[in-house]
Amino acid sequence: MMYLEQFSYLLASVLFILSLKMLGSAKTARKGMQYAMFGMALAIVITLIISGIVGPTQIIIGMVVGGLIGGVVAKRIEMTSMPQMVALFNGFGGVASTLVAYSEYIRFTGTEAMDVNITVILSLFIGTVTLTGSLIAYAKLQGLLPGRPLVLPMHQILNLLLMLGAIGFGVMNVMEPSVQMWALLIIGVAAIFGVTFVIPIGGADMPVVIALLNSYSGLAASATGFVLSNNVLIIAGALVGASGLILTQLMCDAMNRSLFNVLFGAVGTDDSTGEAGAPGGGEQKTVMRYTAEDAAMIMDTVQSVIIVPGYGLAVAQAQHVLHEMDQLLTARGIDVKYAIHPVAGRMPGHMNVLLAEANVPYDVLYEMDDINDEFQNTDVALIIGANDVVNPSARTKKDSPLYGMPILNVDYARTVMFVKRSMGAGFAGEANPLFFDDKTMMVFGDAKAVITGLVKALKADE
Ligand code: NDP
Repeated sequence: MMYLEQFSYLLASVLFILSLKMLGSAKTARKGMQYAMFGMALAIVITLIISGIVGPTQIIIGMVVGGLIGGVVAKRIEMTSMPQMVALFNGFGGVASTLVAYSEYIRFTGTEAMDVNITVILSLFIGTVTLTGSLIAYAKLQGLLPGRPLVLPMHQILNLLLMLGAIGFGVMNVMEPSVQMWALLIIGVAAIFGVTFVIPIGGADMPVVIALLNSYSGLAASATGFVLSNNVLIIAGALVGASGLILTQLMCDAMNRSLFNVLFGAVGTDDSTGEAGAPGGGEQKTVMRYTAEDAAMIMDTVQSVIIVPGYGLAVAQAQHVLHEMDQLLTARGIDVKYAIHPVAGRMPGHMNVLLAEANVPYDVLYEMDDINDEFQNTDVALIIGANDVVNPSARTKKDSPLYGMPILNVDYARTVMFVKRSMGAGFAGEANPLFFDDKTMMVFGDAKAVITGLVKALKADE
């Protein structure tokens, strides 16, 4: 039995590692998810059977009920609400670690060695911070709390005091392990710290915070693994912890911001539809407005189009009709490619997932570095619901929150076509001077409505 348990844990760990590797590419990501699912199911079933916690009937009932709830939620969730769902999952991971660590603590109060006590404390603290921090992140993204940064007077001092409090109670817990009050105080302080840690961060920075909380949920699970002496939990937790941290760093790099700035800079407007106005300090400029039919007429004369999807594509759920459009253009002999910016949308890989949902083939999707040199030889850069990722202010305007962020070189294309509802700015709240460029066509409207109109016009022209 012992060998079966260890072998299964080893197999599950190998599957987790392979899965992470496969998630690195869109082509293998689906299979990677299946490996991870199988590894997790194996780890859960073996743990429950070997430890004799519950019988096979309960395991099957639990998995069917849990699977059904997870399946229905995943099916019903809007793609744009995915960050909220991940936030909730992280919170569940955190509370699970806290509950397991606390029940182990109650079981062994006062009789465990100091190292076990320390891992219990870590698990209680990180697990609870993850829970309340994730709930705040969820509430901000869901609009239950204002998305803007909420900074209390002497906020950082409060955070410092809470951290010091947690350390103090932790030391007391190690010195007097049989006094349960210390463990409860650690949980209480951690719960407040989770709130005060996340609440001053702007709603639009939440995806980065969620990646960080994801990493914390892994660390909490890993600490719980040490409490239980469970190898697969230690390994899985460490993998989540490390990959969450790497993802956090990648997101910060792609936005050209430091993690410190994201966590403590209170940056970001949640008003992604705010009127940007004309850049350049009050100077009156006009934009050229076109209709979907005008856009279709232009497409009649071109040979190459690069489509740049952004957050608005996800909001409008226009991915299916967009694919229909790209097929119509390709059928006319036009070279159609998609340019994917690493932080387009509101979560890593957002555009890839969205376009995969509409069955856009992977081989027409190009990452920024692979396509940026092609814009200069392209007839039309068609930007659908994107703004920041193509805003040239990122190159030139030193006081812009976007300054330094690498962008897609759409302004080098012969014609630039924006599909969006208004002159509104994007996530960073930075006006886009490209709207006013002579070669720019603004096609105002909801992305789905405009692309549907474009498809209709293209079909009528056949
Ligand atoms: P932006 O937020 O810059 O722009 C999105 C645009 O979509 C808006 O200007 C809006 O304009 C338009 N839009 C919204 N709804 C619709 C609709 N229904 N139809 C048509 N257009 C619509 O998005 P980008 O993708 O260009 O950039 C992503 C930004 O998010 C970057 O600044 C990035 O740093 C940030 N970010 C990304 C994360 C990630 O992991 N991907 C994580 C955290 C932040 P209008 O209102 O006029 O329609």
